Amino acid sequence: MPLRIKQIKAHPTNFGLRLRKDLYSQGLNPNPTVIVLHETVYDLDSAVNTLLTPHPSDVDQVSYHTLVGRSGDIVQLVDPSFRAYGAGHSAFNGRWVFSNRNLSGSLNNFALHVSLETPRDGSHNLEVHSGYSPSQYDALARVLADWMVRYKIPATSITTHRYVDLGGARADPRSFAWSELQKRLTALQLVCN
Ligand SMILES: [Zn+2]
Repeated sequence: MPLRIKQIKAHPTNFGLRLRKDLYSQGLNPNPTVIVLHETVYDLDSAVNTLLTPHPSDVDQVSYHTLVGRSGDIVQLVDPSFRAYGAGHSAFNGRWVFSNRNLSGSLNNFALHVSLETPRDGSHNLEVHSGYSPSQYDALARVLADWMVRYKIPATSITTHRYVDLGGARADPRSFAWSELQKRLTALQLVCN
C-alpha cells in the first residue's frame, strides 16, 4: 500500500526543543528512546486544528509528532527532533525529566508521540469503542518502523499514554489491538517471535 503522508507544521507554541540539560543541570540524552501511542478522541481535522492553534500558556500546550487517520493517512506535525507535548505528568518505567519549574516530571523529552484518529463511535469518555481500521494499523506500523530503525528503539519501548500517565486521567488509546500491530511489525521484521 502506498503511504499517504501530509506535512503540516504545528504552531510553535505547541512544541519545543529536546533539552540537553534538565532543571537541575543534569545532562540529558536528546534522542527519543520511547514511543507513546494515543488516540485523538475527536476526528482528525479537530486534532490538526488543535495543533495549529497557538497555546501561549504551558498548561494548554498539546501536540503529537504524527497523527494517523482512519483511512490510513499520515499527518506529520512535529519533527521527531523536537519535543512534542503529548503527555503531562508521566514516566516510562520510572524515567521522567523535570524541564520546567511549573510542570511535573514528564517523559516528553525522550518520547515520540503518535495519535490514532478515534472512530466515530468513540467521541465520549466510555471505556471502549469499535477500535481502529486495518489501514490505520498498516500506517501506524510504517510510522513506528521508521522511528524504530532511525532511533534504534526496540519494540519493548512502544507504550501507551494509559501506561505512562501519572495523573490518573488518561486511558488512551482505548480498544487498541496489540496483536494487529505486532503482526505488522513482525512482517516488517521488527519483532522477533
Ligand atoms: Zn494521549
